[in-house]
Amino acid sequence: MVIRRYFDCNATTPLSEPARAAWLETANQHWHNPGGLYRQGAAAKALLEECREEVGARLGCEASRIVFTAGATESNNAVCAWAARRFPDRKALVSPIEHPSVRESAKWHFRNRLDVAPCSPAGVVEVPAVRQMLGADRPPALVSMMAASNESGVLLPWEEINLLCREQGILFHCDATQWIGKRPAAGLGACDFVTGSAHKFGGPKGVGFLKIPEDCQLQEQHGGRQEHGHRAGTENLAGIKAMMAAWTEREAAMETCDACGRDAFELQLLDSPLGARMVGREAARLWNTSLLVMPDFPNTRWVARLSDLGFAVSTGAACSTGEATSAMLQAMGFGTAEMKRVLRVSGWWSHQRSDWLDLAEAILTTWREFQSGATVRKKIQL
Ligand code: PLP
Repeated sequence: MVIRRYFDCNATTPLSEPARAAWLETANQHWHNPGGLYRQGAAAKALLEECREEVGARLGCEASRIVFTAGATESNNAVCAWAARRFPDRKALVSPIEHPSVRESAKWHFRNRLDVAPCSPAGVVEVPAVRQMLGADRPPALVSMMAASNESGVLLPWEEINLLCREQGILFHCDATQWIGKRPAAGLGACDFVTGSAHKFGGPKGVGFLKIPEDCQLQEQHGGRQEHGHRAGTENLAGIKAMMAAWTEREAAMETCDACGRDAFELQLLDSPLGARMVGREAARLWNTSLLVMPDFPNTRWVARLSDLGFAVSTGAACSTGEATSAMLQAMGFGTAEMKRVLRVSGWWSHQRSDWLDLAEAILTTWREFQSGATVRKKIQL
């Protein structure tokens, strides 16, 4: 499938050219274990530490605060596990639209010590509500809120919530998985914990990072003292180098990311008799995401027919594929029937306006076909 018709970039992105080149070069030249005490091991270790410096510089924090991980799910689980153990008598506060790697992990580790902040009808966590919850008799030890939603693309007020937490001495974790590579990363380092994942911005799968605060010693893994004692397991240097190359490319070309194509796509649908509802349209959103509630027919049928036509879109978050519900949409007041008609469209910086308009046309064609009960005549080879 060509990227022009691939609209599931919040699930994963293809490996970028600079990432592929960096991966190959590192895997060929620096495949040695960074723990080795010989010259090649030291060279690998030096590269690893250079990458750590680079992540720190990009976020605006000390390099020593960065732990490389196997992606966002591991990073988010590590934060919840550490905080629940470190503060056994205190609560955590999460947003209801968090990715399951925060929501489920916080539920598991904090059990009955977990509060959930309310969100607006647009799916945005509201600062005054959080302020009130932080001022309660038993304030939480940890607040976790993502920077941008993987489902609707809405941007969350992470800077304000971070400041509120700072004023009250509460730790703040920002899952910036969907933000990094799409929006500038500068300033994120002011949060106590920050999660990032390479495959969301053109890097390889299975590599990411976690920024941690100074007095945090991650302790969940045993059997190795890598990552300055925070994580066990041989470092994925080629993956880390590839992540940095992909990220560098995206940060250097942030201006190539704009919402012009996505907005034209939405207008085309809004101007048609389709009657799709667009989630979070009234809020600030990522430039690449559109979450639609289709007027009729189950989303699985839409995805299958659009796939026949060569387009990849999703029924929602990739981690919940097969589930008919979404915790985010539930928190926003959607019913089960509506949730079964949700389509998520998430493009990439290289999509042209014409690619978005082709997708809009394919959706309208599909709708007319579904309405007329026409049978599928021709499948396009993917
Ligand atoms: N957090 C958010 C906001 C995500 O969108 C995702 C992936 O969809 C994850 C965490 C998990 O990422 P990973 O695949 O790196 O474990």
